[in-house]
Amino acid sequence: MPELPDIVYIAGKLTGAVTGTPVREFTVKQPVVLRNTFDRPPGELLTGREISTVGFKGPFFIFGFGETTELVVNLMYSGRFQHQRQGEKQDGHLCLAISFADGFRLNLCDENKMAKAYLVPGNDHTHVPGIASLGIDIESPAFTAEAFRAVAARNGRKQVRVMINDHTILSSIGNAYADEILFEAGIHPKTLVSRIPAADIDRLHGAICSVMAWGIEEVRRAAQPIQVKVRGHMRVRNRHGQPCPRCGATIRREGVRGYDVFFCPRCQPATRRHFIDWNRPPAGDSGQDAARG
Ligand SMILES: [Zn+2]
Repeated sequence: MPELPDIVYIAGKLTGAVTGTPVREFTVKQPVVLRNTFDRPPGELLTGREISTVGFKGPFFIFGFGETTELVVNLMYSGRFQHQRQGEKQDGHLCLAISFADGFRLNLCDENKMAKAYLVPGNDHTHVPGIASLGIDIESPAFTAEAFRAVAARNGRKQVRVMINDHTILSSIGNAYADEILFEAGIHPKTLVSRIPAADIDRLHGAICSVMAWGIEEVRRAAQPIQVKVRGHMRVRNRHGQPCPRCGATIRREGVRGYDVFFCPRCQPATRRHFIDWNRPPAGDSGQDAARG
């Protein structure tokens, strides 16, 4: 699943690669992937027109065809774009393709056919599920320390990993960078937001900004083709059993709401400490029972 740094990189690459060239053909190989809200077939609607802008909103890519038409794409778990040169091998299972007059083709590939594309009027996202409910954009000037404090105050009963990973709260942080952010902030993923001191909430806000900037820079530096997921720079994500790069303790993996999370138990200690009173008899007084038996 592409995350914000991947999306920034892909949108930037595609802006240079696919804008300003007339569409020669729009191919729909997997109709289940496309929702066309116009009463004309997509080929008829788009052929001869040009993509003018490539942007994004949360996990959604937005290709503008002038001001009247948009192709909105959510790659979901396994979808990816490929900017394919003539003669170059196609990257897996093709769902949609836009062929351009310059001979290049923009492919949407997904063997699971879970990616979703929507052809909608410009800036009209009423038929794009999930886009209207996106939370505060963490890349926007609105994402201040003060705004994040308010977010934390409203979500005190949630585990911190669940809160920062919820796209209706923050737009948007995926699983990989959520782990990296909590590692940077030194916060255990299962900590209840209400138990995090105010100073640490501010530190968490700083970690969201700095880790995303770092991720964007690392993905840019890796300079891979857009279909490649760049994760080599991760410090805890998928590093279960490996030494923490900061303290050397063994990185652990645990489940939070059915998702794997990775963290360093020493750099990110649990705040809810379970103090054990060694002078108290064991629960149920089973020790005595055993002695009597
Ligand atoms: Zn550590």
